[in-house]
This record gives sequence, structure tokens and C-alpha cells, in this order.
Amino acid sequence: MNLLTLLAVGLPILSGPDARLQVSFGDDGSRLSYSIVYDGKTLVAPSRLGLQTNEADYTQLDVVSVDSEEIRDTYVLDRIKASRIDHAALRAVLHCTNPDGRKIDVEWHLTDHDAAFRYLLPREGETGSVRVLAEASAFQFPEGTTGFLTPQSDAMTGWKRSKPSYEEFYSFDAPLDRRSQYGHGYTFPGLFRVGDDGWVLVSETGVDSRYCASHLSDYDPATGYTVAFPMPEENNGNGTVEPAFALPGATPWRTLTVGADLAPIVETTVAFDVVEPRYTTTRAYRYGKSSWSWIVWQDASMNREDQVAYIDLAAAMGWPYILIDAGWDQEFGHEGMAELVSYARSVGVDVFLWYSSSGWWNDIVQSPVNVMCDPLARKPEMRWMESIGVKGIKVDFFGGDKQETIRLYEAILSDADDHGLMCIFHGATLPRGWERMYPNYVGSEAVLASENMIFGQNHCDLESKYAALHPFLRNTVGCMEFGGVFLNKRLNRANGAPGPGGRVFGTQRRTTDAAELAIAVLYQNPIQNFALTPNNLTDAPAAALDFLREVPTTWDETRLIDGYPGRNIVLARRHGAAWYVAAINASDEPLTLDVRAIEARLGGTASVLSTGKDGLQRTAAAKKPLRIPKDDGAVLVIR
Ligand code: CA
Repeated sequence: MNLLTLLAVGLPILSGPDARLQVSFGDDGSRLSYSIVYDGKTLVAPSRLGLQTNEADYTQLDVVSVDSEEIRDTYVLDRIKASRIDHAALRAVLHCTNPDGRKIDVEWHLTDHDAAFRYLLPREGETGSVRVLAEASAFQFPEGTTGFLTPQSDAMTGWKRSKPSYEEFYSFDAPLDRRSQYGHGYTFPGLFRVGDDGWVLVSETGVDSRYCASHLSDYDPATGYTVAFPMPEENNGNGTVEPAFALPGATPWRTLTVGADLAPIVETTVAFDVVEPRYTTTRAYRYGKSSWSWIVWQDASMNREDQVAYIDLAAAMGWPYILIDAGWDQEFGHEGMAELVSYARSVGVDVFLWYSSSGWWNDIVQSPVNVMCDPLARKPEMRWMESIGVKGIKVDFFGGDKQETIRLYEAILSDADDHGLMCIFHGATLPRGWERMYPNYVGSEAVLASENMIFGQNHCDLESKYAALHPFLRNTVGCMEFGGVFLNKRLNRANGAPGPGGRVFGTQRRTTDAAELAIAVLYQNPIQNFALTPNNLTDAPAAALDFLREVPTTWDETRLIDGYPGRNIVLARRHGAAWYVAAINASDEPLTLDVRAIEARLGGTASVLSTGKDGLQRTAAAKKPLRIPKDDGAVLVIR
């Protein structure tokens, strides 16, 4: 099959390997555009290409020639939704010039369901570097398309002026012609439903120290969404909004994943397919589950007795880690922490330590501060961590999406790898291919995570709705360190016992235990900080504890069985020979789970964790389909 067709006017049509996905080009008045058709249906309408730099304007382009090759790429990656990726692709380069004869290439990577592109700038003459002033790259959709989107927030607002941090609500199936909540567009990824014709997921990947992180602009009916750069106010005004790189050089990839149904959206690996490792490691990182006291017991738990209780919880669960959150330095000092790490290791538990990223870009007082932002402080601190056996860090409260901040992420990752430290980022941007680019990167927040369920009842009320959304959207493009799976019914230390004055306080979990166990599978992150509390060892169902001892945090394969974003989902993840099928229902309409049909599809026999009349139960496969009401869920383990 010929995957490249050149039209008489010199514009190509590119096809994915199975030829169902086609990208064609137009040049209306020298404005180069692309559009995407899948199975004969237009899913992306003509959308502009081009960019503007301080050296030249590349928004009017002529395609001079096209090179293409069919490639087959195989790689292994132990921290994402699949462990071995083997894909065929068409790589094509459109060699273009602007009206002044300045050269630019637009490189495309097409698989059966993904179309990714980026711009490559050559070095011409003496000029060795370039600043990008704006990108014209656009995403325009056919009439009637609706979106699942989350707005970019204002900068320098929220907790201690720490936004933007990708912690906003989503709109579901919303018309496109609305202003975003804050007027700054939407953060990646965005999911679009093109009526009954299909789905499109838009994101970006390959963002490293050589560019900023971008987002989608507000919608313009004439042009659709364009790629927007950070706001000047981010990072407390420090650092440019115009990314700069050395020539020859490239922009990050803009990615579009398309399908007639949602399976390609959930199963895509394009965020990792088109990037390369930025460095190799000599370390063997070990992933797994972790306890953390801060999520339910909060700041008051930063004392030795409570930390020991959570170390002992991890040990009792057979989990390899504890995350010791903010404020440890003031409570224990470095010497005290060395002693606590030593205790943890004596019972088989390794330690992650929390740090603020700050810095001169927010008002964070949670400590340690001013360590991770400064190489002179960071490097000796990491040497110290390695010397006492710390295995990872959680760095919080970053300054936004500017290139200066992306450079900080990369510097922290690179230094941490020198000392065998894995990195989790909170108060952070979306990871963009980082699982493949950085061998010690193990997850980011970039979501309204579990902490919000402690802070506000509305987040508990929406828990199942978001659990039925994120596998299609936020979590499909990158690891998501959510910090959930609660077995407390009241999300406080007393778990519902009356407090002062006999008042029962704390937010109320709406989901069943079975739904919480489903979330352990639905949310993918190689390190899972679960929200269990020490009392759960005696007050939670034995079947729940058994499952949370056993459930993997790494996956060989992921398949969507059924679902609709925000309503319900049935998702299958394989670890070795076992399939873990997780279902959750967020709608008033009961979700029907045909266990027999799923067994037949995946091969094997299921044991079922579901909600019986006495709560969580573990049974052999039901003969009749399971009926799952709102806020309930189920897990099938199929061997
Ligand atoms: Ca947060």
C-alpha cells in the first residue's frame, strides 16, 4: 500500500499503516492547513499550520517536496499502560518554504489511530538560535462537535498563589463556542466528540527544557483552537513566554488520536511513541504501593508516632513505600529523618520525601523550601538522601508552564537520577512523554486529586464521575498520581466517630468499597500512594485489604471494554497472565457487567469483587450479569 499520495498541486495525502486514517493538506492563499479523515469521515476540519519566530514568519508556507518512510518501532517501557509497544508508522516530512525562501520542515508521524506533527527549523547562515513568538497550529472540528475540556486557570491565584497547576473541573460534552472559564483556553489533553462520526484526543508530547508547555487557546469559530503559550504572569512574572532553542531544532509534537469509538483514545501510546529518552540510567527503579499520612491525618500527623503508624501500615500491607509529606524537616531535622528512614527500612519500607519546588514564584510555606529550585542546595540534599537510603522525592508547587519551569523539572529529574531518586511532581503541569524521556520520572498530579475530597464534599460527590472520565483523558496521556483509594467512610482521622460536642465531622465518601478498589486499577501510576489509614487494618473488609496487597501498579496491556466519559467505564489492564477488569458507574442508569462475556473475550476465569447485601464480597464468576448502580463498581481478576 502506498501511504503517500502526491496531488497534482504538489500537496500530499498521508495515510496511516492500515489506510483508514488520512491526513490531507490544503494551501488556501498560501495558508497551509491539514485535515483528518477516519473511515471516510472528517474528524478534523481544515486547520492551520505554521509558526512565527523572531527570525522569520512561517505562517505562509509552500510545500516544496515530501519525504516519507514506513517505520516499525518496538520499545519497552515499564511505567505506562502497556509494557511493550510495537507499532508501525508512516514518517513523512513536508519540506516547506515561506515567501522569502526561508526553510521549515513539518514532520508527521502516523499510526493507525494517531497523527502527530512538529516543526523542524534548520540552521541557515550565522543565526544559531531562535525564539518562537507564536504558533499558528490549529485544531478545528466539524459542526456539532462537543468537548470534554478543563480550563487553564489564572496565574498567581489559589493556594499561596501557586496556580496554574492543572487542578480545575472539566466540562462534559459541551458545545465548543463558549469562552473558557478564565479566558485563557484549556489545558491538554482535550477530548472531542464529533457527533456520531468519532472521537479526537488532542495533546502534546516531547516537551523538555528546550521549549515551554503549551495549551489550547479559547475557541475561535473561524480557526478553531490554536496552540497557546504560557501567560506572562506565571512563575511570578519570571521567565519568558517565548520558548527558545538552538538551531537546528524542533518544537514539541502536537498529537491527535482519532477513532470511530473510544478504544483508541484509551489505548493510545502516541505520547511515548514519538519521544526519545533524554538520558539513560544505571539504576533499577522499583515501583509499587505506598502509604501516606498527610492525605487523611493531614498536617497534624507530622510527628514520629503517626509516621511510625503509617510505616507499620505499609509493612502490614506488604507495600514497599511510605511517602513522608510536608513539614518533616521542621519536625525531625535531617538527623531525626535519618533515624526514621532507618526504622522504616528495618521493617522493609522505603521512603519518599516531600519538597516544595520554591523558589521565587509563589508564597508556599510548607517546608522544605528553597532546596529543589537551587542546584547549590539541591545537589548536597540529594547526596544526603542517597546516603540515608531515601528512594524518591515528591516535589510540589511548581511555577507554571514557562520554559524556565520545564527546565527546572528536567534539572531536578536529572540530578535525582544521579542519586537513584524517583520523582513525583505535584502542583504541577501535565507530563508530556516524560515516562519515556526520564527514567526516574514516576508520576504527576495535574488533576483535582484526592486531597480535594478531604477539603470539599462536592469532590466526594463527583468521585465516580471523574473516575469514569480520567482514563479517557488526563490519565491516557500520562501517569496520574492521584493519591486515592479510601476505605474510610468519613474522610477524617476518626472515620466517623463523633468529634468535639458529639458532631460527626469530615467529608462523606459516596462510593462503595468495590468502587474504591476499581479506582486502584482505573488510575494508572507506577507508584500508587493509597489513602488507607491504620484503622483500616481492623475496620475494612478483609477482601479489600487482600486485594490492595495484591493489585499491581504496572501493566503489560490496557484495553477499553466499555464506557462513556463521565458516565461509566469498564477497563481491562493485564499484569503478567492476570487481567484486572475495573468497572465504575457514575450515572443513574445501572451499568450491566456481563462477566461471562468478558471472561470469553479476555480468556480465563474471573473472581469478582462486588457489592453484596452485606458490603464488599468476593465471589466466583456470576452466572447472571452484574448490575452496578451509581457510585458502585466492581473488579474482576481473570486468570
Ligand atoms: Ca495539589
